[in-house]
Amino acid sequence: MKKTHFVAFSLVTVLLSGCATTTSPSASGVERKQFMMLSEAQVVSMSTESYLATLQEASKKKTLNTNPAQVKRVRTISQKLIQQTVHFRQDALNWKWEVNVEQNDQVNAYCMPGGKIMVYTGLIDKLKATDDELAAVIGHEIAHALREHGRERMSIAYAQQAGLLGLAVLAGTSKNQNAAAVGVQAAALGSTLFFALPNSREQEREADRMGLELSARAGYNPNAAVSLWQKMSQQGGSAPPEFLSTHPSNEARINELKSMIPSVMPLYRATQK
Ligand SMILES: [Zn+2]
Repeated sequence: MKKTHFVAFSLVTVLLSGCATTTSPSASGVERKQFMMLSEAQVVSMSTESYLATLQEASKKKTLNTNPAQVKRVRTISQKLIQQTVHFRQDALNWKWEVNVEQNDQVNAYCMPGGKIMVYTGLIDKLKATDDELAAVIGHEIAHALREHGRERMSIAYAQQAGLLGLAVLAGTSKNQNAAAVGVQAAALGSTLFFALPNSREQEREADRMGLELSARAGYNPNAAVSLWQKMSQQGGSAPPEFLSTHPSNEARINELKSMIPSVMPLYRATQK
């Protein structure tokens, strides 16, 4: 084998060995292989640190969990969704889930790797969100965490920036050694990357699909995903809500959701008996 061919062959081997899927397909059928360079533990630890800092800052500003009834509502909905995560991955029930509400006018919510959920009051108040609609947003965000989309985005960014895939092949280092070296740099930038890098359209589609299933199984009407996105896009105006900048809500997305809903309706109906 010529040397160049050998390098190309090795590169493919490294790429493939770094690829796996994070979740079981369950009813949603999501089973795309993902490229992961950073370890799950590393990404979860960076996220936990970043989340803790956010809580401390909000606490200092007296914007953390200011309305007990609202916090109770968000936590109740989240817990029901979290109980259903077992259909996608066995380990998720053992995650250190946290659910908090921040007083913030932005229409936004997120779930960081490892299950750290934050819902902004803007999402609840401005959209006058129903329980079903809140479940649609939170379920979607939980799905991103289950699929480890943040870890995937960070991994791709690192591979691209440092050209480390090629280096790993040429230096003949093992995948794990390489991941450890990358991890040192990742620790500094991890949470920044989590928020800075947008989800890909494919990741969004997966989160929509799995989020609908989580909602349906938890007893929330999956049709609320449609009304939620319609409300969201009506918020538009001069300053679109934060959520829209990372989650473009257009006719196509809403139509896609509509086409996904029938497959999870039996799961929802089963909870209503
Ligand atoms: Zn999303």
